[in-house]
Amino acid sequence: MVPQAVDDESTRPPSADGIPLRFGEGRISGILSVFLGAASLVAVLCFHFPELLTTPELRQAYPVEILRDLLRLGMVLALAFGTLTFFLGGARRLGATGIALVWIAQGIGGANVYVDDFAQPAISFGFDYLILALLANSIVFIFIERLWPLRPEQLTLRPEWRLDLVYYGFNHVMVSFVLLVTTFFSEGLFGWAVNESLQAAIRSQPGWLQFLEVLFVADLTQYWGHRLMHEQPALWNVHAVHHCPARMDWLAGSRMHFAEVLFIRSIVIFPIFLLGFAQSAISGYVVWVAIQAVLSHANTSLPFGWLRHLIVTPHLHHWHHSADPEAIDRNYAASLPFLDRLFGTYLDNAGRWPERYGIVGKPLPSGFLAQHLYPFISRDRTE
Ligand SMILES: [Zn+2]
Ligand SMILES: [Zn+2]
Repeated sequence: MVPQAVDDESTRPPSADGIPLRFGEGRISGILSVFLGAASLVAVLCFHFPELLTTPELRQAYPVEILRDLLRLGMVLALAFGTLTFFLGGARRLGATGIALVWIAQGIGGANVYVDDFAQPAISFGFDYLILALLANSIVFIFIERLWPLRPEQLTLRPEWRLDLVYYGFNHVMVSFVLLVTTFFSEGLFGWAVNESLQAAIRSQPGWLQFLEVLFVADLTQYWGHRLMHEQPALWNVHAVHHCPARMDWLAGSRMHFAEVLFIRSIVIFPIFLLGFAQSAISGYVVWVAIQAVLSHANTSLPFGWLRHLIVTPHLHHWHHSADPEAIDRNYAASLPFLDRLFGTYLDNAGRWPERYGIVGKPLPSGFLAQHLYPFISRDRTE
C-alpha cells in the first residue's frame, strides 16, 4: 500500500446508518418484490436472447425446465410480496414497482418463451449467472450475517450497498468478456509453452488431488499478483478501489476495479492452462473461490475453529482490509493462509478484530464511474 497522509472520512469507524429493515413495515417485502420482479424480467429476456445474455459454460449445466419453474416461482413471490406492502401500509411504491416488473415480464412472454437453437456469438453477457449467483449469495450470506454477526449494529442495507450492488452486477455480467480476454491471454500468447506429456501426467492424477493442486497454483499466483498491486503505486491505485469500503460485508468484496478483475483472472488462469488440469478440477476451484471471496468479506464472526489455519476466514481477510497500521500489507492470500506465513506477511491477531477499514489517506471518489477513472486521472495518487 502506498502511504499517504492520514485522513478522516474513509478511516472513520463504521456507523450504524443506512436503511433499517424491520419486520411488519413493508420495506422488506417491497425490496424482495422489486428484486424478484427485476430478476424475473431479466430471466425472461435471457429466454428471448440466450445467445447474447447467458453464459455458455453455465447453460450446459442447468435444465431449462427447472429454470422455467424457478421463474414462475419468482414471479408469484414478487406479486405476493408486492401485494403485502399494501396490506402493511409501508413501501407501497416498491411493492407497486415489483408488481409492474412482473406484469412487464409476463407481457413479453413470461416463463413460456420458446428457446430455439441458436449460434453462440463471440461474446455474451452473463445475466443468468448474475441472477443465480445473487439469489444464492444473498440468501446464504444475509442469513449467516444475521445469525453470527460480527457487527450486529451494521445494517444489511448499509451505506454504499447500492454502489457495491452495481459492482457486483457489472463484474458478474462481464464474465464472458473476462473469459474471452483470459483465454486469449493464456492460449493465444502462451500456447507454445504447453508441454503435452506434462499435461497428460497431471490429468492422470485423481480429481481431488488435481483440485488441491489448482487451488495451490492459483492461490500462489494470486498471492503475488495481489502483493504486486499493493507494492506498485500504479497498480495500487487500481486495487485501492477494493480497499476503499469502510464497512465489510458479503457485498463489499465485489468492489473491484474492472482492470483488477482482468489482471488477476489473467495471471491466475495462466499456470492452470499451462499445466492442463482436468475441467472438473478447474470448475471445483472456480466454485470454491467464488464462495470464499464472498465469505471472507462477510460481516460475520462465524467460528471456524482449527480450519482458520487451513483456509482464509473472514477474520484474516478483514485484517487485510484494516486501516490499522499493524495490518497494512498483510494477509494477501485469498484461500491458503500458509502462503502468508511462508512469505512473511501473515498477521493473526486471534480473537481481535480491526477497529476500522478502508484506505489510509485521501479517500477515493464515490461512484462507480469516478472510481473506475480514479487510477487514470488522479494526479496526487502516488505521492
Ligand atoms: Zn489488497
Ligand atoms: Zn478483499
